[in-house]
Amino acid sequence: MRIHHPRRVAAVAAATAAVAALAVTVPVAANGTTTDNTNAARHAIVGGKARNVILLIGDGMGDSEITIARNYQVGAAGRLAMDTLPLTGEYTTYALNQETGKPDYVTDSAASGTGWATGTKTYNGAISVDLRGKPKATILELAKKAGYRTGNVTTAEVQDATPAVLESHVVSRDCKGPVATTAKCAVNAKENGGAGSISEQEVAARADVLLGGGAAYFGETITAGRFAGRTVLESAKRSGYQTAGTAAELARISPHSKDPVLGTFAPNNMDLEWTGPTPTKTGTAATTCQVNTARTASQPHLSTMASKALQILDTRSKHAKKGFFLQIEGASIDKQDHAANPCGQIGETVEFDRSVQLALAYQAKHRDTLVVVTADHGHTSQIVEGPTEGVTATLTTHDGAPMTISYATAPITGSQQHTGTEVRIAAKGPQAANVLGITNQTDLNTTMRRALGIR
Ligand SMILES: [Zn+2]
Repeated sequence: MRIHHPRRVAAVAAATAAVAALAVTVPVAANGTTTDNTNAARHAIVGGKARNVILLIGDGMGDSEITIARNYQVGAAGRLAMDTLPLTGEYTTYALNQETGKPDYVTDSAASGTGWATGTKTYNGAISVDLRGKPKATILELAKKAGYRTGNVTTAEVQDATPAVLESHVVSRDCKGPVATTAKCAVNAKENGGAGSISEQEVAARADVLLGGGAAYFGETITAGRFAGRTVLESAKRSGYQTAGTAAELARISPHSKDPVLGTFAPNNMDLEWTGPTPTKTGTAATTCQVNTARTASQPHLSTMASKALQILDTRSKHAKKGFFLQIEGASIDKQDHAANPCGQIGETVEFDRSVQLALAYQAKHRDTLVVVTADHGHTSQIVEGPTEGVTATLTTHDGAPMTISYATAPITGSQQHTGTEVRIAAKGPQAANVLGITNQTDLNTTMRRALGIR
């Protein structure tokens, strides 16, 4: 006799409904419910080269941050788009101590980014330089050199660590514009014969698409060289860039033009998607998140920028021998985790997940695309039973159940800490099997280079 367990049936139905709502192409079986997944897994293992690589980085998006967003948005038995990639592993993220060369177990986004972008472990704060400050070639630079189209998209300042590691090399992540570079990265400063600030190097790198915040640094004045006395933005315009400062301007940029696109939509980081309760020592009443009505309407969402970047790169590479490399970062998952803002963090994760959905939809039509979804390090937020030694807030999830989230690595007025945990790495497409098991963050660099056939 067959026994139907009502709760399990309901859970499976809920998972199916959530996946259907997201319109992803992966069979529900890939989520491991009741069917034998052996064949689906076998089919997901594809060797050979990829025409395109789309790398999606959820900054600070550890397993805990993913679980929090999933519970809230689609329920405990639901699946986010990022949960549907067929091959999943975990990778280690540690940095190195600059003096001793020993592991520094908790990485920042700079050392972490240098790891996946260049394949070299380095110290916290380093932007694609090794322990001695020597520049290391990045996956974006190598891809561009090999004839691929390239793109770099973030919700942070485009000079922030994750986008910066792809297109610049400085000894400190603080050297975003010429002013800070003179003060903190003398060896990189233009007036000392260096390549200049992160902003200047990004302009020189000429990726097809660079989108995010950080307009403030492009207003700073260049200290030496061909564009001395001009702002970084003027130097970009004079060297052939198309620029956009609003979502409307971005929409008007033709994907057919060959000129590089620089879109900066906020002076610093872009506005948040959601708002919600501030955690307290004694917790909060259960509540829900709200759309951030204070968000600047002219700013594009991450998924809007991701969609435009994909359109431009796809169009430009359509009749070419080589495809493209595109990085898309959900940056403020990390920043709102630092700020102990649960709804801020979840809203950014959900918007990041929409970008994952776009990448998977593209991959469904272009099977020779490798999609990788991962994080750069873990973070503070934890799902807990009730009030902790830190601060907590309670949210009512998609399940209609309370979920208490704790931040306990800094006072509410301070900045919550990164953690040294390994984080999820999931992939689909050629070379995806190389994320399986436990790998090192630097291995992702090898996987992407192998996929694109570049050394
Ligand atoms: Zn951080």
